[in-house]
Amino acid sequence: MQPSADSLHLGNFAGALLQWRELQKTYDAVYCVVDLHAITVPQDPAVLARNTRKTAAQYIAAGIDPNQAVLFVQSHVPQHPQLAWVLNTITAFGEASRMTQFKDKTQKQGTDVASVGLFTYPILQAADILLYDAAIVPVGEDQRQHIELTRDLAGRFNQRFGQTFVEPEVRILDQAAKIYDLQHPTSKMSKSGESPQGIVWLLDEPSIIAKKIKQAVTDTDTEVRFDPTAKPGVSNLLTLYTLATGKTMEQAEQDFSGGGYGPLKGAVGEAVVAMVEPIRVKTLELLDDPAELDRLLAVGAEKAEAIADQTLTRVYSNIGFLKPGGVRREQR
Ligand code: AMP
Repeated sequence: MQPSADSLHLGNFAGALLQWRELQKTYDAVYCVVDLHAITVPQDPAVLARNTRKTAAQYIAAGIDPNQAVLFVQSHVPQHPQLAWVLNTITAFGEASRMTQFKDKTQKQGTDVASVGLFTYPILQAADILLYDAAIVPVGEDQRQHIELTRDLAGRFNQRFGQTFVEPEVRILDQAAKIYDLQHPTSKMSKSGESPQGIVWLLDEPSIIAKKIKQAVTDTDTEVRFDPTAKPGVSNLLTLYTLATGKTMEQAEQDFSGGGYGPLKGAVGEAVVAMVEPIRVKTLELLDDPAELDRLLAVGAEKAEAIADQTLTRVYSNIGFLKPGGVRREQR
């Protein structure tokens, strides 16, 4: 995730962190905070530094274990931009132009103000993946096109220069984990959402979370039923309830049958606070000791670089780049 907000939100937690936490138990997982991606739009230097630590702290507080998974900051591993450059040279301009996320992101302001970095963003993302011989990339549906580009680039490189990269499979994460804006329940909860009341941040105080959930948009009916089309607001609250309590949707519907929206909102507020508050407390604890957090991230970067260096060495050699000092060694 990008360190581009002061806090992660419930959607990031449900759609990404929760799944990553499970995956690290059965896979050799590699996770990073993508600060190189963040600068594709303007960032204030002091804020970027603060948010990078904050994002990493929230990964750990939410259960990403730096001893179990490799956890690092993208710019600490120089092979990312190095491989991205190589991949840039085998990506067709037309191919990159077809990426719908760039079109979406530049729709409002137009391409005159968008950076070339934003345009080549998916190519850096391909490098992030291919450096680690990743077999599986767990992402939301919105990332499918970028992973397909990654596979195409890996295949193309292998064909031109010999077997070098693993072609990764995309793993689309559980759709039920999608969280919607509390004020606009047909839109995804997003850091760029229109209304601050619609977003629950992981670092929100408990009373703020309870209040936001109390003020969530529902409908004029009183029936508590999971029906995302007819009742998007109520369904979103039910999703949050199942997420926070581990109950099934049927159990959740039963818990509130005939009770109206008041008890639903009260219970969802309590359950979400109980789920998120330990994360907030742990995050603040980690941020209280930035030296220790930086140490954990440095260990992660070292582990990541050990893998990434092997891949980049293979890439450079297959491309035909001379090794520094290579001739001298050959002459000996
Ligand atoms: P973003 O903040 O959009 O860069 O997303 C970072 C990660 O969080 C990605 O893996 C997204 O798929 C996931 N994510 C973001 N918003 C939501 C949401 N509202 N519901 C579920 N997952 C989300």
